[in-house]
Amino acid sequence: MKLTTRILTIFSVAAYAVMPVLADEDKHDDHDDHGHEKVVAGPNGGRVLTDVEPHLEFLVNEDRTVTITALDDHNKAAKIAGQTVKMIAGKRSSPTNLTFSVKDGKLVSSGKLPAGNDFPVVVQIKPKKGAKTVNAKFNLNLKDCPTCKYKEYACTCAHGDDDDHKDHDH
Ligand SMILES: [Zn+2]
Repeated sequence: MKLTTRILTIFSVAAYAVMPVLADEDKHDDHDDHGHEKVVAGPNGGRVLTDVEPHLEFLVNEDRTVTITALDDHNKAAKIAGQTVKMIAGKRSSPTNLTFSVKDGKLVSSGKLPAGNDFPVVVQIKPKKGAKTVNAKFNLNLKDCPTCKYKEYACTCAHGDDDDHKDHDH
């Protein structure tokens, strides 16, 4: 009986030793989950970049150009108001640089994305003139999500976001 108690105690101590790590992990997840609850696609079915205010919708067009649309508080399209965007796409060894110019109140890329359906991108956003550049880094996966109606990069399912956050954090 005594031995059993001791073993249980050892297990309890071991469990407590592990607990803080788990607690931290939970906290981190909670934080991410909090963001996930609000994950919605943009009005055109693109990815909503929440790194900047106002949020921007990142949309890959059929011809592999990219359109960036400003969003209002209700996730509706608004006019670009002084934001400037540059973008680096593809492998670090052979990146494709895209610049954007305003057309019809939206930012449209001058060039096209590199070939492939899954590569890293960095969207460099200046929220306004003279402001610090904010980098939105994520994996641009152009495959259709099997679960929702969006492509993986704009996916609103939890699984896609988990991957994105790993990329984002590191
Ligand atoms: Zn999905």
